Amino acid sequence: MARTDWEYRNSQFINRPTPRTADDGTRIGTTVGTLSDPTIDEVPVIPLLTFTLLLGPVQCSVESSLVTDGRNIRQFAFDGDTKTAFASKEPARSGDHLTLHFDRVVEVRSLTVSLGEASTADVVLEASTDGKSFSPIAEFTKGKAKTTRTHKVRALRVRAVKDADKPLVVREFAIDTAPGVAPFRFPIEFELDVADAPEMKAWAENVISICERHYPMICTELGSDGYDPPTQIRMAFKSDYNGVAEAAGTRIRGSVKFFKRNPNDIGAMIHETAHCVQRYRQRGIPGWLVEGIADYVRFWKYEPGKAGRLNPDTAQYNGSYRTTAAFLAYVSDRYDPKAVNKLNALLREGRYEADSWRVITGKSVEELNQEWRRSLVR
Ligand SMILES: [Zn+2]
Repeated sequence: MARTDWEYRNSQFINRPTPRTADDGTRIGTTVGTLSDPTIDEVPVIPLLTFTLLLGPVQCSVESSLVTDGRNIRQFAFDGDTKTAFASKEPARSGDHLTLHFDRVVEVRSLTVSLGEASTADVVLEASTDGKSFSPIAEFTKGKAKTTRTHKVRALRVRAVKDADKPLVVREFAIDTAPGVAPFRFPIEFELDVADAPEMKAWAENVISICERHYPMICTELGSDGYDPPTQIRMAFKSDYNGVAEAAGTRIRGSVKFFKRNPNDIGAMIHETAHCVQRYRQRGIPGWLVEGIADYVRFWKYEPGKAGRLNPDTAQYNGSYRTTAAFLAYVSDRYDPKAVNKLNALLREGRYEADSWRVITGKSVEELNQEWRRSLVR
């Protein structure tokens, strides 16, 4: 899985809509060139994202003026667990803050914010209806701020009003709102390195915010019993790297050159983020399946309809990347919607074998391959 993904460039896909999107009538324009043809622009990601967000519970993001201390990431301040906390590396100075932004205005009915013992900073709890101008709604006593008055809120923040001599530690925002706001079920923080190309900073920050937004989806698709996905991922853009992107452990490397030419190819980073969640440790597992699962998450869950159409004459289940992803989608549709989740669990636990396909579907992978290839011709 640490291999580079430059093979994308040589893929045999052609720019036609996938059978899947044609079948279910949800095609979003024709497939775009992404890696095989960088001159064609992709459909922007943002409208899709906004559409998704309006349907589910209210999503939020968390930002801070303070640098995170070690593993104590920002999202731990709103993960439903008072044992985890955000902690700042340095003592908070007057004006430093940790802010929760909601995607839309919610009615807060009750709210308790707890700080950690290390926090002796003189801090206040503030609310904003527009996400920009804030006013105090509660004071902290003994590390807790509470309010049971109803507030219309777009953002909440803990802000230092004096310089402190200890770091800021925020254990939890416990909030009752209408509509409901989803806490961070799979807390994650991406650390960005754009030292090679500081001019890419704003673009790269958007990329990591998209990866963070889709992290719960990736962790759900690739979840298994007793497995805790990583909570920190480092993403670096390098100018001396000639691939597209690659992942090793919880580190992702992307090419400055490639992403400057292909700024809409954010899905490539969803693919790499999926690798960070896969974390298969067993040796000798099939690379085509590892890449196929990462591309399944990308092309069937993050940006459906963009995989392009396969060539029915040459496609094989073990063709890796989006070819295998299309095969996995077929098996999921026809046999078991949890097929990818089950294969992922077997791979993670070191129990995957060729016969796993028969256990999940009742058919061998060769039989499934023949069926799937026939379905491509139609
Ligand atoms: Zn890959």
